[in-house]
Amino acid sequence: MPKPAYDRVLLKLSGESLLGKRSYGIDFPTTQAIAQEIKDVQSRGVQVAIMIGGGNIFRGVRGTAEGVERVSADQMGLLATVMNGIALQDALEKAGVMTRHVSAVEIRAIAEPFIRRRVLRHLEKGRVIIFSAGLGSPYFTTDTAAALRALEIKAGAILKATKVDGIYSADPLKNPQAKRFHRIRYIEVLKKGLEVMDATAISLCKENKLPIVVFSLKKRGNILRAVLGEDIGTTVY
Ligand code: UDP
Repeated sequence: MPKPAYDRVLLKLSGESLLGKRSYGIDFPTTQAIAQEIKDVQSRGVQVAIMIGGGNIFRGVRGTAEGVERVSADQMGLLATVMNGIALQDALEKAGVMTRHVSAVEIRAIAEPFIRRRVLRHLEKGRVIIFSAGLGSPYFTTDTAAALRALEIKAGAILKATKVDGIYSADPLKNPQAKRFHRIRYIEVLKKGLEVMDATAISLCKENKLPIVVFSLKKRGNILRAVLGEDIGTTVY
């Protein structure tokens, strides 16, 4: 069996990854399928922490576009991620994976607060960590939260699950000449304004040399492939 490329990873799942064929909310069979993939990774002895987004339910920008004050809108976005965190935790536990839900906003009846050493101990014991509520502050995204938490827990990489199988020189849906980068430098991503993660997240990774593996979640088994270091997407380095 091939050896995993990382001992510990931070998997960034957007809220959209839980949509399945829906246009809003949580598709439970899809969530369960993702949980199964995470179980496959964890059973290889890889420690997994997940940062869950909230875009399938609510994004701050949507609220502000409709006249809601930014801070309030972002707080709604934060709570959307908590709801996704509960769904993901349920699916993982049903798959037989021990988990801990860690929210950056105190919500005691549902999730633990973020205490770094405690989270590390959970990971060492093989529990999958679900981080929700991003960083708990408005004006951030769950991508930036993923980068910060990945650094704090010393993850070997951020696995950024998306709808496309990596970063392309142009939009592959519009331009058949578009080429997928196997590897690309942080600075290129920033200069070209490539939509991988927001600039704050990329800068944080760049300064701390934390690789980002961008891959598609659409193909079953890709989370494990990414952990095994297979060339299925684009590595930002
Ligand atoms: N959010 C926030 N602070 C954070 C992380 C998220 O205010 O640290 C809010 C923000 O409004 C964002 C929403 O939560 O739009 C959902 O997160 P995000 O858009 O990153 O989710 P994703 O795109 O990954 O589904």
